[in-house]
Amino acid sequence: MSTSLDSGPPPHAPATALRQRMAELRGPSTAPHPLDARALAALAANPGCKRRALLDGAGVDKAALARALGSPAAFGQSQFAFMRGNAFEARVKADGGTELLGLLGVADPHGALVPDLTAAGPEGRAARTALALREATGAGVWTLLDHPMLALEVAGSPAFLEPDAVVVHPDGRWTVVEIKSFPMVDGSADPSKVGAAARQAAVYVLALERVAALTKDASVDHSVLLVCPKDFSNLPTASAVDVRKQLSVTRRQLARLTRVEEIASALPDGVGFDLESCSSGELASAVGSVPAAYAPECLSACELALHCRERARSAGAVEPLGRAVRGELGGLTAVPEVLSAARGESGDPADPAVAALRRAARLRAEALGAGAPGAQAPVAGTGEETAGAGRGTA
Ligand code: SF4
Repeated sequence: MSTSLDSGPPPHAPATALRQRMAELRGPSTAPHPLDARALAALAANPGCKRRALLDGAGVDKAALARALGSPAAFGQSQFAFMRGNAFEARVKADGGTELLGLLGVADPHGALVPDLTAAGPEGRAARTALALREATGAGVWTLLDHPMLALEVAGSPAFLEPDAVVVHPDGRWTVVEIKSFPMVDGSADPSKVGAAARQAAVYVLALERVAALTKDASVDHSVLLVCPKDFSNLPTASAVDVRKQLSVTRRQLARLTRVEEIASALPDGVGFDLESCSSGELASAVGSVPAAYAPECLSACELALHCRERARSAGAVEPLGRAVRGELGGLTAVPEVLSAARGESGDPADPAVAALRRAARLRAEALGAGAPGAQAPVAGTGEETAGAGRGTA
């Protein structure tokens, strides 16, 4: 383990054996799919999912995997939004970032340094970034790092992250800059979009703190600068966003992530995710061999969501009903079991979940009228109505 910033970013570099194992799982001829801060924020949102942790740790392209499985991801940024975001970012950073530095309150933006961060490969760029941060902090002058590269160890594997910019203040403070293309109208923006940007920025702050810990007189701002178009124009405006809460949540969630070597060692022999050499059936069976923790939130955060939802539904699992319902059902883990308990055919009446289900089934029958079709206790189906009723009465 090295503490030198120039020797490569991850001080807890994974063992060569682990890297080889991850390459075997991914397919030796496939380059690892890089993890970005958006993916890390999503990974931290579902720390119990071993499937995602392993696939991300092995650098498998989950979007390509989902396509190969016949369940392509149903989310992502449109090409138009992507191009608009790039154009806005270029405008904000034009002329050496003078407008951006002006938004931070720099009196003489033209005097700021903009070091060249070019280097070979992500490791090289991360080392070059660390050196630039150290030099800028030592020099005590405003410095803009355009697209620096940061590294963070996640579930035993290094992830390389690229914030839009980091600004070094003369007093040694480092501020993360996030440039987004959603509008800020009358000084405020869509809270859900600001929240997502804050979670993403918190991942950058976390990675920067590792570098700052090894840099004399450096500290990382826990407020990030969010830059957005002003009202409905193309003019940039900025707001400081406090990410302390997101930082502590992300730190805690990432620390809890199951380590990938443990997950990999539990896989059956011969399992692999090589998209070039495996058939769709082999990939489905390989994916199925890694335990998942599906929740409806996956639909907006993970490329494999449609595949995992379909598998969870066909297995009769209660997870697709949502975490709240899942929690209230206690030891009842399958929809047929829930329906059977509601009909009074199984289950311990002293179990609060079973009692609530039966009460809900009774109320449902009364509401529908004893003689009306379907007034009997629920029959096998999605189970959502029974579970929803149970939630309301538990
Ligand atoms: S969609 Fe599947 S792999 Fe992705 S986080 Fe959810 S359960 Fe895990």
